[in-house]
Amino acid sequence: LVSRENHPERSVVRVGGVPIGPDTMTLIAGPCAVETPEQTLQAAQMAQAAGATLLRGGAFKPRTSPYAFQGLGEQGLRILADVRAETGMPIVTEVVDAHDVELVASYADMLQIGTRNAQNFALLQAAGEAGRPVLLKRGMSGTIEEWLMAAEYIAQRGNLDIVLCERGIRTFEKATRNTLDISAVPVAQRLSHLPVIVDPSHSGGRRDLVLPLTRAAIAVGADGVIVDVHPHPETALCDGPQALVDGDVRELARLVRELPPVF
Ligand code: PEP
Repeated sequence: LVSRENHPERSVVRVGGVPIGPDTMTLIAGPCAVETPEQTLQAAQMAQAAGATLLRGGAFKPRTSPYAFQGLGEQGLRILADVRAETGMPIVTEVVDAHDVELVASYADMLQIGTRNAQNFALLQAAGEAGRPVLLKRGMSGTIEEWLMAAEYIAQRGNLDIVLCERGIRTFEKATRNTLDISAVPVAQRLSHLPVIVDPSHSGGRRDLVLPLTRAAIAVGADGVIVDVHPHPETALCDGPQALVDGDVRELARLVRELPPVF
């Protein structure tokens, strides 16, 4: 269903009216985690200033350590809905458990499935039945074929509104949090008709790499990027070192405006 063999035209996925697909470079930005109403609104305003048309933000956070901030849950979803009402930005937010899909879908414009759940088949199937577009991250140790098969699990349940996201893979290299597999973008675009975007925040894991990796994503023909921004990254409850701050956001806006996508 997701293969390009029987569907040569590349697909456009619409999220609350915002298109992701060929001929566009969609910027999704926002805080890694929803922490407070003020922090989320400020991050959304930073995102909008950078030209972002979709707001990201995690209410359910899949953390490596059980002692790390796990997200605000439904309270976080309510904050996101309030910020959507204030800014007009549709919301992309992660769901980590099949039992929460209905709840998250009742607030979200797009469901995100993170790298740690990329082969959680029950979750993929539930997301396929939720009636919302799905942003599917590549598993950190997943091959491109496994990523596309994960998308197939969603598609098989009747939902073809899927956007693939390359977010870096695990390699021997320790200088970056993950290794951005930039070649995965054109490879996945050739194998599948689904849009493919890049997460330069979670791949590099470092603020100073977000703009160079965004340039790479645009140059290689990605259909969008998803970027962490935070008004005060030094106090962030999740992934502060990779969040862009105000000055970087202006540069990000310039990049997305001036560097035309390559096709
Ligand atoms: C995220 O985008 O908030 C996230 C946790 O990303 P990943 O699943 O790629 O680690």
